[in-house]
Parts: sequence; C-alpha cells; structure tokens
Amino acid sequence: MAEPAVPNSARIVVIGGGIIGCSVAYHLAHMGCTDVVLLERDRLTSGTTWHAAGLIVTFGSTSETSTEMRKYSRDLYARLEAETGQGTGFRPVGFIEAATDADRLEEYRRVSAFNRYCGIDVHEISAREVQDLFPLARTDDMLAGFYVKEDGRADPVDVTMALAKGARLKGAKIIEGVSVTDVLQSRGAVTGVRTSHGTIRCETVVNCAGMWARELGALSGVNIPLQAAEHYYLITGKLPGIDRAWPVLEDPGSYSYFREEGGGLMIGLFETICAPWKVDGVPKDFSFGEIEPDWDRMTPYLEKAMARVPASQAAGIKKFFCGPESFTPDLKPIVGEAPELANYFVAAGLNSIGILTGGGIGRMLAHWILTGAPDVDITGINIDRLHPYQSNPDYRRTRTVESLGMVYQCHYPTRSMMTARNAKRSPLHDRLVARGAYFKDVSGWEGADWYAPPGVEPRVERLSWGRQSWFAYWRAEHEACRNGVILMDMSFMSKFLVQGRDAGRVLNHLSANNVDGEPGRITYTQWLNEGGTIEADLTVTKHNDQHYMVVASDTAHRHVLARLRRHCADAHAFATDISAAYAQINIQGPRSRELLQTVTSADLSNEAFPFRCAKEIDLGLARVLCVRITYLGELGYELYVPTEQATHVYDQLVQAGDSVGLRHAGLKALASLRMEKGYRDYGHDIDNTDSVLEAGLGFAVDLKKPGGFIGRDAVLAKKSSGPLTRRLAQVLVLDPEPTMFHAEVVHRNGKPVGYVRAASYGFTLGGAVGLAMIEAGVPIDQAWLDAGKWEIDIAGRRYPARTSLKPMYDPEMKRIRQ
Ligand SMILES: Cc1cc2nc3c(=O)[nH]c(=O)nc-3n(C[C@H](O)[C@H](O)[C@H](O)COP(=O)(O)OP(=O)(O)OC[C@H]3O[C@@H](n4cnc5c(N)ncnc54)[C@H](O)[C@@H]3O)c2cc1C
Repeated sequence: MAEPAVPNSARIVVIGGGIIGCSVAYHLAHMGCTDVVLLERDRLTSGTTWHAAGLIVTFGSTSETSTEMRKYSRDLYARLEAETGQGTGFRPVGFIEAATDADRLEEYRRVSAFNRYCGIDVHEISAREVQDLFPLARTDDMLAGFYVKEDGRADPVDVTMALAKGARLKGAKIIEGVSVTDVLQSRGAVTGVRTSHGTIRCETVVNCAGMWARELGALSGVNIPLQAAEHYYLITGKLPGIDRAWPVLEDPGSYSYFREEGGGLMIGLFETICAPWKVDGVPKDFSFGEIEPDWDRMTPYLEKAMARVPASQAAGIKKFFCGPESFTPDLKPIVGEAPELANYFVAAGLNSIGILTGGGIGRMLAHWILTGAPDVDITGINIDRLHPYQSNPDYRRTRTVESLGMVYQCHYPTRSMMTARNAKRSPLHDRLVARGAYFKDVSGWEGADWYAPPGVEPRVERLSWGRQSWFAYWRAEHEACRNGVILMDMSFMSKFLVQGRDAGRVLNHLSANNVDGEPGRITYTQWLNEGGTIEADLTVTKHNDQHYMVVASDTAHRHVLARLRRHCADAHAFATDISAAYAQINIQGPRSRELLQTVTSADLSNEAFPFRCAKEIDLGLARVLCVRITYLGELGYELYVPTEQATHVYDQLVQAGDSVGLRHAGLKALASLRMEKGYRDYGHDIDNTDSVLEAGLGFAVDLKKPGGFIGRDAVLAKKSSGPLTRRLAQVLVLDPEPTMFHAEVVHRNGKPVGYVRAASYGFTLGGAVGLAMIEAGVPIDQAWLDAGKWEIDIAGRRYPARTSLKPMYDPEMKRIRQ
C-alpha cells in the first residue's frame, strides 16, 4: 500500500475515523467548510465502531438535546444512502422498551410523555402486544412495553462509511493510516498537529479518538476523563421461527436487549457491576480488537437475560463477544471546546450510544465550530463540566464500575453516584457528619443533602419517584428557613478573585448587569454570548476598583474560569481560583440577623447593612466577608470564611444558634426554597440556548451602562422584535400529592406548550413547583397565562396547575429587604 500523503495545512483536522469523527467531518463539509482533513490511525471503524450492535432508539432520554440528537441521527441514517450511494443498513423494524416493575413503569411513563412532546411517536403497549411483536419473549411478568415503530437498527460500519463518503463528496479529505502524535499550540490556541507522516498546520482540531481520546488530550493538557470498559453481546445459533422483521426488544430488568442476527439472536448486556479495561492506557495498535470474555463474571447476567427469551437457551452459542467502549463519570458524552486550549474541540466518551447519537453529535459540533456557539443546550455534556482529578487512574477505575452499571438501572432523579466519593470535602465535613448529614456528590464535593434527626441513621431506605423516608426532615429544614433560621454549608461554590487595574472593565464587559458600581456591593448578573443567550449566571462582589470576587455554582466552575481568563488575557486583570480558600456558610431566614448580631460587633441593622451589602466583619476570632444576599428568598447572609477558620466560625454560629433554634439545612431544602422563589439555576432551568429576556432575567440587564457588554446588541434586537413568545414561567401543581423533577410536560387548554426544566417540592406553596419553558407561538404575558387552563402531565396523569411569570413566593421581595 502506498504511503499516505498528508497536506501541509488545513482549516480543521479531525482526529479519529470512527462514527464520531466521520460524522463531524461530514457535517463540517455539509455546512460549507471543505478544508477539512480527517486522520485515522488505522482504518475507518477500527476502534470501537466496527463491533457495535447498531441499536437505533429515540425513546428514553429526558434531555431535549439527547432526544433531538437521537431523532436527527435516525433520520440521517435513513436518508444517507440516497445521498451517497452507500447503504447504512438502517431498518426501521421498531423498538420496544420493556417495564417489568412499578418504578420502571413510572419512569417510562414520565419519559414517554416528554419524548412525545419532542416528537417521538412512542406508545405504551401491553405485555400481550409485546408478545405479538416479539413472540419468543416471555412476557408474563411484563407490566408494559414502550414501542417506537420508526426506530430499529443500523449497520455501524456502513453508517460510518456512508458518512465518510458523504464528507468526501463534499470535499473533505479522509486519510487512513496516519496517527496524530501531538497537537501543536501557541499562546493558548491550537496551531497544528504532528502526525506519523508530517506536520499539518491548522486552526482547529477535533479530538474524536474514542477510547484513546483521554491520552491524546493529556499530551496537550486537555482533561478528557473517559475510561474504556468491557462491553458484551452474545450471538446464538439459529432459532426456528425468528423473523428479521421483529423489533428490537430491550429489557433492562434482565440486563439485556435482543435482536435478530443471522437467523439467531443477538443478546446484548449491560451488567450492574462492570469491568474497566486498560486503566493504564489503551494499546496504540489495538485495531478491530476483541477482549477475552470473562465468563465467570458474566454468566449470572447471561442466565437472567436468556430467561427472558427461553428459546435462546437451547440455540447454542455462536459467539460471546467482548469489546471496549468508553464511559464517562456521569454517563454523558464529553463534547465541546477544551477550557485549557482554544480551538481544541472534543467529541468522545459516548457511553454506548455513539451510533444512535453519532449523527446528532457531529451536526451539533460542526455548527459549534463554524459559528462559535452551539445551537442546543450543551450544559450537561460540555467538556468543561469535568475536572482534572476525574482523570486519575483511581477515579476512573472506581467510577467506571458504576457508570456502565447505571445504564440499565431505574433512573431515580434523587440518586447520587456512590463510587469515587469523598474526593473533596468542605472544611466543615466532620461537623456536618456529626449533625446527621446525608451527603451527595456535588461536582466531586460531598454536599449535605438533608439531615437526619438525632438517633436516625442518615441513609436512603429505598429510592422511589414519590416521597422518601427523608421527606419529613426536608420539610422541617424548609420551614425552619421560612420561619426561623438555618445554616447551610455551600463551600463547594466556585469562587474567583479578579484583580488588577482593568478588572472592573473586564467584568463589566462580560456582565449584562452593571457590576462595577459602588464598592461593598454584590450584584447578580448573567454573562451572555454575542447571540444574547446565557453563558453563566453568577454574582460579582466589588470590594474596591481593583479587587472583585465572582461566585458561580459548582457545575459552572471551569466554564466561568476559562471565560474569565480568556477575557483577562489582554488586560491588566488576573483571575485566581479561590474556591478552596474560603468556606461558604449561609445563615438564612427571618431570624438570621438576630443570630449573626450575637457573634459580631458589626452593625447588621437594615440601615447599616442593607440588602446587597458586602463587608468584612469580625466573627469570634475570625474575619469573614459577610454578604447580605439570598438564594432562598429570605433575609439572609453568605459568609466567606478563610478555610483555616471555618470550623471556628461554624462553632461560634452553632453555639449562638441554640437560643434562636438554628437548624442545619441541606441541598434538598436549597432546591425547594429557591424554586418557590423562582430563582434560576444555570444548567438546570436555564441554559446556553435561552435569551436572557426569555429566561425572565431582563431585570438584571443594564442596557444603558457605559461601554455596553457582550450580547447587548442581541438583547436590544430581541427587545425590539416584539413581545416574547417563549418564556420561562413558574408552575405549581395544585394537588399536593405528586412529585415533579424534570421534563414533565405542561399543557394549556389541553395542548402541550412546554416542559418543566427543573422542579422541587414547595412546602410553603403546598405542592410540586418548577420552572417551565413555555413556547406558545403567541405573545406570553401574565394575562395570557391566567386565561388558560393549565395541567401538568406526571407519569401519564394530568394534574391541574397554576403558572406565573413572577415568583409565587414573596413577589414583592418584602421578606428579603426587611
Ligand atoms: C459491544 C458494543 C455494542 C455497542 N452497541 C451500540 C449500539 O447498539 N448503539 C450505539 O449507539 N452504540 C453502541 N455501542 C457504542 C458505539 O460503538 C460507540 O459509542 C462508538 O462506536 C464510538 O465511536 P467513536 O468514533 O467515538 O470511537 P471509535 O470508533 O473508537 O473511533 C475512534 C477512532 O480514532 C482513531 N484514533 C485513535 N487515536 C488516534 C490518533 N492518535 N490518530 C488518529 N486516529 C486515532 C482510532 O483508530 C479509532 O478508529 C456499542 C459498543 C460496544 C463495545
């Protein structure tokens, strides 16, 4: 074979010729960027793609982005042959998801309502109907099936070849047998790639190197914490009566999926406890490779799976296949521009859905690269949500065992990942343990979720979709904040110091609000992109005109820091991550002033210390930054305490708190309190696709401030384009019984008009409460909301609801300003 020739330069180099790399190249070329070179170390599909099962299913996700990517991929694979002449093997034989227990049934009913809203024609069918469609299955214990007729299966190699051909036809170059050995950079941005066959100068690289992506990224200091793991399917001998036209049947309850293969069955498995593969590094020459199956470990899962289709037990085993696939810490893909290096994009870590979402991932990333911004919500999949410690071998070895195992678990919304825990602890951790805290994983921190009363062990008795054993403790914490005073440890918040002569100017350019006013004030603001949609939601505290503090949520940590640093680069402004240098203790509730006043000599009266005031105060033997602000809707204070004084300050507060009934409150209470007040949480109820006006945050935008800000023109254009037809509204279920979490569909006069982005339980309002994006196609104002009959679909039942643009709790902010 002739040695491959590589060009000297290209605009974009895509690394990796699996389905993801080929899809990215295809979409870049289709969007008009033809100066694209895809480099594949060996041959196309030789990594993971060649051995995928090719299931194509659109049902099952409560993420709008993932659902859109699934639908788009399926439709693309159906039409690629006509465009390229290369078949994809896509056959819409249908897909059935089986529910064999009550909790799973509830999950699927919730998901199916949302999926229908997203345009997926999913039907709940009876066990009898499942039997009719897949006669070899045992269905006596099945409660229901969820059937999408248009889904089915495709041939992963053919799909990839069709994408590659489509890319080539549009002018992209696809070169096999060339390894990228390094990515070149200068001044924080990509300048080229070094390959086994020479150097290519380029503006942008896209790392689509599958399970090799982590090690390739590490060469450039880019953190991609994915890990390969064993992944299995079995192919039986021929089975009499089986039909190629049968749908794919998936039964998570027996860890398995089934589809026809060569006159027999393919039985795919997702075991509950899995095995990471090659934690120390994937061999560079592993091509079209297989892993020796671990029969001992897998036999119990196989037995359970085969019991679902008993005829498979007698069919004989043709092949028990094990191949590696990449898994990520939270089972979501790793996509986007690396925070460490400009123009270094990544699309990897597909968690076994790379085929069924591959088309959509490629489209989304190509759009992002070519326009500078993604056109879908990427907050849950953005590479910058992940942290460097998650790439440690011990982390990957531990967490991966759980992540693959989660694929077929019931996805209880209150469940936290249980492995690789205790990586980051607040300085108050041991004190909170002693108080009965139940902890959850908060971006790697141990965050107190709720507190068990004395004598009760803080543990989850049984996960469910309803009220769990800790519901009463949660209520007590919520009510203590509304009526008395609570202490909440939020040391996991991201905190950045911004200093320098230009610090105020840089921050004001980034911020839609004016954050550079009087010193000693905290300001709530969004950071927007040029399109006027939201990049970050945070506060800026001005100490003096060369010294500011930015505070954002834990999930926004790297996103905010990267954006900050990029904008400081050419200015006399310097951003320092001080997240771990300060504990953040919240004292909130109508009696918070009374409590705090007993431990400081500072005057905390409303006159001396008004809402939004930020001052350093004495507290016991410590100096703390005290900021009068709330995320819970009450009079309250955030205390920023140097880490080494955190326990001292905590002890002072707790001791003084005895006389005012101070109660500890956790993150469940945070969620319910803030949701009643309609406070937004970036990545949950607002995201990068929302205009700041649609998100209801126009009050925090200062269009008149001198110098303007990023996104101002877009906000002005939106304002002048007429009344909003898409708005975030608060929704309250009138029946106090049901629970909401996310993705419940909202109906106005019987018509679906939006879905709940995030929800909690409003103990003060008396029912499940959430924030829903309403998209009506007509101007939305409160009169329009009031004129409608509102209902929310929760697990297939519609409940009457109330909607409001203003917060239902304390809309006048009287409690906060008292
Ligand atoms: C048993 C099994 C069954 C599966 N079934 C399904 C299914 O039914 N549906 C579904 O959606 N998904 C399924 N998957 C998952 C799916 O196969 C993957 O998500 C998908 O193939 C990942 O594609 P990729 O392009 O990211 O990775 P890969 O296919 O591994 O591609 C990465 C490519 O990068 C190349 N490369 C690496 N380093 C370099 C370098 N330095 N220079 C140049 N090239 C480089 C590699 O050679 C490789 O070809 C399954 C996976 C397994 C293991």
